[in-house]
Amino acid sequence: MGYSQQWSCSSCEFEFNGEGHNSALMSGTTTSAYCEDCKHVMDLLTGPDGREIPGAPLECYESKTHTVRPWSVEEPCPQCGKGTLIADPNSGMLTD
Ligand SMILES: [Zn+2]
Ligand SMILES: [Zn+2]
Repeated sequence: MGYSQQWSCSSCEFEFNGEGHNSALMSGTTTSAYCEDCKHVMDLLTGPDGREIPGAPLECYESKTHTVRPWSVEEPCPQCGKGTLIADPNSGMLTD
């Protein structure tokens, strides 16, 4: 099971809903990534060891041509590069 919550940036309007970091799921593990074209954070499935699954590169759900890079909430906001992402303590939701 994962823990999904609402995150918002301390210095810009950027926000997303997701885990925001690597976590273990029944089906494997997820890692979060940021699509620079969609301006969107997504949780992607990776291998059991947390690495990318060979043959399944980080890829945007919208288009394979989008630029996607690994990103986690420990890093600065992917949009403004200055703020930090803060979780809304009231938005936590268990997912599987
Ligand atoms: Zn920001
Ligand atoms: Zn995209």
